[in-house]
Amino acid sequence: MSSSTKEFLSEDQEKDIVEAIKKAELQTSGEIRVHIENKCKKDPLKRSQEVFSKLEMHKTDLRNGVLVYIASDDHKVAIFGGKAINEKVGQPFWDDVLADMIDDFKNDEFKHGIEKAVLSIGEKLKAYFPYKSDDKDELSNDISFNENS
Ligand code: CA
Ligand code: CA
Repeated sequence: MSSSTKEFLSEDQEKDIVEAIKKAELQTSGEIRVHIENKCKKDPLKRSQEVFSKLEMHKTDLRNGVLVYIASDDHKVAIFGGKAINEKVGQPFWDDVLADMIDDFKNDEFKHGIEKAVLSIGEKLKAYFPYKSDDKDELSNDISFNENS
């Protein structure tokens, strides 16, 4: 059975995730976004790259946007980092963040899993892209939703 992405998280849970993004972005100049859609028929990493472009996440000064991608029906997840991040760290950099998120998803702890992933991304990026006092919020902290089934 397919469910709407709107039912995946409650309004309060969405707010908690947006708060986590704000908090994580106080650690790093990196810009984190969360995208949730219901279906993903292809490799989630490939799909996350498409979404990254669609959301114009490459348009940050330091090319350090990071997308947390979730297909809610299929329980597929991916993390896609912008050009500058990929130059410094490869995809394995995200593996433990992804593994933790998948564990939480298996226990139906969706909000908790996403929140934790967002906060760990902030922690991990801190070393490479420290927060600067003149930081701008370059990309919206709101969750991006797409119904595609
Ligand atoms: Ca920022
Ligand atoms: Ca932001």
